[in-house]
Amino acid sequence: MIIYDDEVFKMACDQFQVIADYLNIDPNDRDRLMYPKRAVAVTLPVHMDDGSTKTFQGYRVQHHLTLGPTKGGTRFAPSLSMGETAALAMWMSWKCALSNLPYGGAKGGVAVDPSKLSRRELEALSRRYMQEMIPFVGPHTDIMGPDMGTNEQVMAWFMDTYSVYQGYSVSEIVTGKPVAIGGTEGRREATGRGVVYLIERAMNILKIDPEKCTAIVQGFGNVGSVAALSLAYKSGVKIVGLSDHTAAIYNPKGIDVKAAEQHIFKKGHLKAFDQENHVDPNKLLTMKCDVLIPAAVDRVITEKNAAKLQCRILAEAANGPTTPGADLILEQRWDEIFVIPDILCNAGGVIVSYFEWVQGLQSFRWTEMEVTDKLFRILEHSFAQVIKRAKEHKISHRTAAMAIGVERVLKAKKVRGLFP
Ligand code: GLU
Repeated sequence: MIIYDDEVFKMACDQFQVIADYLNIDPNDRDRLMYPKRAVAVTLPVHMDDGSTKTFQGYRVQHHLTLGPTKGGTRFAPSLSMGETAALAMWMSWKCALSNLPYGGAKGGVAVDPSKLSRRELEALSRRYMQEMIPFVGPHTDIMGPDMGTNEQVMAWFMDTYSVYQGYSVSEIVTGKPVAIGGTEGRREATGRGVVYLIERAMNILKIDPEKCTAIVQGFGNVGSVAALSLAYKSGVKIVGLSDHTAAIYNPKGIDVKAAEQHIFKKGHLKAFDQENHVDPNKLLTMKCDVLIPAAVDRVITEKNAAKLQCRILAEAANGPTTPGADLILEQRWDEIFVIPDILCNAGGVIVSYFEWVQGLQSFRWTEMEVTDKLFRILEHSFAQVIKRAKEHKISHRTAAMAIGVERVLKAKKVRGLFP
């Protein structure tokens, strides 16, 4: 389909076909499962600080509506396209289904570099985006959340804009909001916490001691920073590699992650941090470590570097970091590298978003302990199912995770039937 014409969408489709073949899905059901149900493109005119008016392109893709409303993050990134948004929405579908959340997948966003906007411009763009989306979203239709390039403040502007148009507060329209306006305790940390929980489970299976382990974290946004800090200061793992979009650092003696966080807080990036240990960002992923955590963008582990990875655990905190070509290589290396696939590894975010939505609908307040405890229980269940299925069917962890997700959506579509 021409509107989704994009490399990332093609990758998501290729991954789906692998699963469809493994599950022996009837060709008549494949397109129905794979293509997004709805896709919206909007043009967003914004008054810039210099007096000019600039237009931005915004998107929202709702992948399937079979199990409940759609759910997914909002990405502000310069290269965002309809195809990439559709791929991310498709992954959200399998992710939500694997965790048994009553949602279809969605994703949206704006093609923009948010770091180039003033705070006023960012607010104007965020509000305009939500305003244009009002006819297509709702607490029982499609619930937005955060993703790369957006944060709690952007979610607050979304919630406020939607609420102003309704005439009353609708906190359930977005998740990842500040706690002060109905956000949940533990949402900001949820994805990173989930990543670390699953890494510790993998270490447990492999019988390796976290205190003797090293890790490389690619990306120091919300997910990467929470994961790195928690691994370093709670699990006792030595962080030997760290990067953001401006620099990559590798130090076998260990990196002071708190100092890196402080540096980013002050400067906004890692560029001038620990300069004597800077390395080629392309080489960081193939350097020696026990745990490799891609927590940035998609397609960073490819057929070019998959054979060179030197880790024991690959924890996919980003969405779509590994290409299907790389997967074939990793399948050969199954006894060397334990893969925690993205739709399992980073599911903590949407799971706690679900808790936030449920609390909002019922005007409830859970404590951080309740939230984290429930999060770990869901992750534990999914993790156990994936490992069991992979073992029994001699398939990769990714195939097992995706198969569980795809199967649940297919079953629901079958039992609901095709109308008319
Ligand atoms: N952006 C997150 C993801 O990719 C979560 C989105 C949400 O909380 O709705 O899973």
